[in-house]
Amino acid sequence: MSVSDKLLRKYAELIVRTGANVQAGQVVRLTASVEQYRFAELLTEECYKAGAKKVNVEWTSDALNRLNFTYADEEVLSEVLPWEEEKMKQVVKDLPCRIFIVSDDPDALSGIDPKKISNVSQRRNKVFKPYRNAIDGKHQWVIAAHPSEKWAQKVFPDAADAVDRLWDAILKTVRVTEDNDPVAEWKAHTDFIAKKAEWLNAQGFSFLEYKSSNGTDFRVELIPGARWEGAGIHNPLNGAFYIPNMPTEEIFTSPYAGRCEGTLVAVKPLSWNSQIIDGFSITFENGRAVSCKAEKGQELLEKMIKMDECACMLGEVALVPKESPVNQCGFLFYETLFDENACCHVALGEGFKEVLPGGDDMTVEQAQEHGINDSIIHVDFMVGADDLSIDGIRPDGSRAPIFQNGTWV
Ligand code: ZN
Repeated sequence: MSVSDKLLRKYAELIVRTGANVQAGQVVRLTASVEQYRFAELLTEECYKAGAKKVNVEWTSDALNRLNFTYADEEVLSEVLPWEEEKMKQVVKDLPCRIFIVSDDPDALSGIDPKKISNVSQRRNKVFKPYRNAIDGKHQWVIAAHPSEKWAQKVFPDAADAVDRLWDAILKTVRVTEDNDPVAEWKAHTDFIAKKAEWLNAQGFSFLEYKSSNGTDFRVELIPGARWEGAGIHNPLNGAFYIPNMPTEEIFTSPYAGRCEGTLVAVKPLSWNSQIIDGFSITFENGRAVSCKAEKGQELLEKMIKMDECACMLGEVALVPKESPVNQCGFLFYETLFDENACCHVALGEGFKEVLPGGDDMTVEQAQEHGINDSIIHVDFMVGADDLSIDGIRPDGSRAPIFQNGTWV
C-alpha cells in the first residue's frame, strides 16, 4: 500500500478531531471492518489522545455477512437477540460518539435473494428504530471511508493499483494531502456551505422546481420554517460541532412529506442493499411515488419504495454543485457517502426532524405532524444533471433561480 503512515494518521486525526470532534471524557463506539484493523488502531489512538474515556470497537465483515445470508434462515437472521438490544440500551445511556468506517464491497451480497435481504433488514430495523430515535440528534457521529480490496476492484476493475487509486480519490474528496492543513481547509469549506445555507434560510422558499432535459420535471413543497443545513451540526447536549459525513458537499433540508408532483430522473446508478439499481426514474403524485422505471433492478426499486407505508415519500432534498470533488473524480464510488456528494439528490424515506425549529425535542410523531417523513429506509438518489435548473418559489409567488446548469447561480 502506497499510502504513507503519516497520511493515514493525518486522516485518522481529521476524522476524530474535525469529524466526530471527540470530547474529553466521552465514550466512543467505532464500527469498522476486520480488514481495516490497522486504521481502527490509529483511530482508537487518536480518540484516546482527544480525551476519550473508552473506545469500543464493533467489527464487521462482508465475507461473514455473505456466509450468513447464504446459509442461515431468514427467520434466524431477522431475530434480534437480547444481548443486541442490551447493547443498544447501553448506547442510549452512554450517548457515545460514533465513528463508522465504511469499506464495503458493493457486490458483497450479489446473487442473494433481494427479498431475503430486505425482509431481514426491515425486521431488524423495526426493533432498532426506537433506540435510533432515542439517540437521534443527541450524540456526535461521523461516517468516513477506507478502501477495501473488493471495493477498489469494483470501482477500478482490472487495475493492479485499484486500492491506491481509491485511496487517492478518497483523500482528495476529504481534502487530505501530504503537506496541507486539512483542518483549515475543512474550516473554509464548512464556512462556504454555512453561508449558502444561511442565504437559503433567509429566502424562505415554499417550493422548489426542478427541470432538466433528461425528463426531470418536478415540484416539491418545503416545510415553513424548516432549515437548510450543511456540513456540520452542534450536539445540543455539549455544543460540540461535528461533521457527520466525510466527505460532505451538500446543503439539505427535509421537504414536506406527501407534497410533491412530477418525475425525477436519476443520473447515476444507486447501490442499495449491496445491489445496483440503474437507469431509473420515479414519478410522484400527491407526494407519493406512484410509478418507477429502471433498466436494471426494477424489482428491487419497487421493493424499496414499498419497504413501509412512508418509504414512497421524500425525506430529503439536497443541493450539491456539479464541481464537487466527488463529481470531478468522474467515476461512481458505489458508495452513497461519496456518490450522494457528487450532485443534487433527494432521498426516499426518513426525514430529519432536527431541521424543524425545536425539532430535536420532538417525538417522531410530532415531527410527522409538521411534515417530516418517517420510514425505516433513507435512500438517496442523484438527480443533478449537468443542465439541471432549480428555482425557488417564495410564499408570495416570486421566484429566484438557485441552480442553473447543475451549479449555484
Ligand atoms: Zn443527502
